[in-house]
Amino acid sequence: MLPDNLNSLKIISECPVCRKKQFPADINLVEEREEGHLLHMQCKLCSGSLLVFVNFNDHGANVIGVLTDLQSQEVGKVLSRGPLTADDFLEIYQKMNQEGIVKELLG
Ligand SMILES: [Zn+2]
Repeated sequence: MLPDNLNSLKIISECPVCRKKQFPADINLVEEREEGHLLHMQCKLCSGSLLVFVNFNDHGANVIGVLTDLQSQEVGKVLSRGPLTADDFLEIYQKMNQEGIVKELLG
């Protein structure tokens, strides 16, 4: 089950793949950690998949998203090899950012 605050995930204003605003998506919680939540989102319109790391703090939510080819089950498999920390995720994010894959998701 997703926490209530994630169900209202209006933070991501448009699909980075098809650019549809308020896109319908399947959202799966992949990992729940102290540092935040790792979600897998799949746009129902274009089937584009996103890995989204959400971290709630006193100021609201930080959201980092990366496009992925992985299905949510596959993400689970990858993660089961070992714990993924926020640092790991940031490393992936930075690597993808360098390659120009990361989109700005905040509306
Ligand atoms: Zn889409």
